[in-house]
Amino acid sequence: MSTAQPFSVVADFPGANIAVDRIDGNDVYIHQELRGTSPWWFHWAFRVLNANGRKLSFHFTERITFPTMGIAVSTDCGTTWHWTGTDALFPIEQPNGFSVMVPGGADDIRFAITIPYQQSNLDQFRHEFPQLRCDTLCHSRHGRPVELLHTGRTDGLANYRLYLSARHHACEAIGTWLLEAIIRAALADTPTGLWFQEHVEILAVPFVDKDGVEEGDQGKDRQPHDHNRDYDAGLYPEVFAIKKLLPAWIGHSSTIALDLHCPSIGEKRAYMVKVGDKQNLDTQRRFVQILEHCHAGPGAFLESDHGSWDKGGNVYDNGLQSTRWLSTLPGILLTGTIETPYAQIRDAVITIPVIRSFGESIAKALRELWLS
Ligand SMILES: [Zn+2]
Repeated sequence: MSTAQPFSVVADFPGANIAVDRIDGNDVYIHQELRGTSPWWFHWAFRVLNANGRKLSFHFTERITFPTMGIAVSTDCGTTWHWTGTDALFPIEQPNGFSVMVPGGADDIRFAITIPYQQSNLDQFRHEFPQLRCDTLCHSRHGRPVELLHTGRTDGLANYRLYLSARHHACEAIGTWLLEAIIRAALADTPTGLWFQEHVEILAVPFVDKDGVEEGDQGKDRQPHDHNRDYDAGLYPEVFAIKKLLPAWIGHSSTIALDLHCPSIGEKRAYMVKVGDKQNLDTQRRFVQILEHCHAGPGAFLESDHGSWDKGGNVYDNGLQSTRWLSTLPGILLTGTIETPYAQIRDAVITIPVIRSFGESIAKALRELWLS
């Protein structure tokens, strides 16, 4: 005989992803949906309704790994998030789930692998900075407008240009938090911000895989290849539009192009992925050294986290990644991927202030690189 459950586990908001296998009392059996991606990956996000005051245990029925700070939780419908810490995770002998005491007032409690960044977060950012122009890069396969942010010195006369992209891999939300943080620093009423507003034109694509972000796909290794392996194929309208737009926009200016990602889930280092020819690698190394100097911590960025610079740039199978394509364009002073962890940069737990401080340091380091 089945009994009606007094609470429900649902994936009904932008960015959500979960399949419920069964609910047995306060034990919930679930798994993440890979949705056309292969091999395995760890992304999920969901909410629980009307479980106030219950201690719930979530058992993942397929392979799973958790971030180094436990689980990200929101009890205000996704407005703010905090980390449970690793105490919420099941013991190490059976590390396939977590337990949480749902607070008395929490009719709607959300869980995720990191602090999500969705369309609604971008809307809020744009509301806060009305001077931030937002055009439509293209429409996604599912018909969504894909945002192209345009700011800084926009009269076409800027000596320096900055191109930022994030979410070639839909689940890597910290990439867009960092993209926002860099733009925020460039718009600030600070010496760095005022210099950007006078000298730098900025273009940014906050959600390259827009459908994946809003639909809650993990997106990495989407088959037959993902958005960040599409720069020689052009399967996705976003990549097609970026390839059409950027060469003319860059022209022969001094352009820096950064693609913002998250590394594997247990990683605690923020680092730049080596790419391109010797000239780009040398400039990457100089930028890394400047950024180390600008960002001593909390969450220090260190050149020693980058290994040897003599091995050349990373080359991946199955298609051309964005930064390798960018590295071939005339006018590029520097390109590279910055990987920012999901939960922790060394001693610093990932929070909005921690990401904003990292973004501010990146803006300072970019200015220093241009002026050096
Ligand atoms: Zn990625």
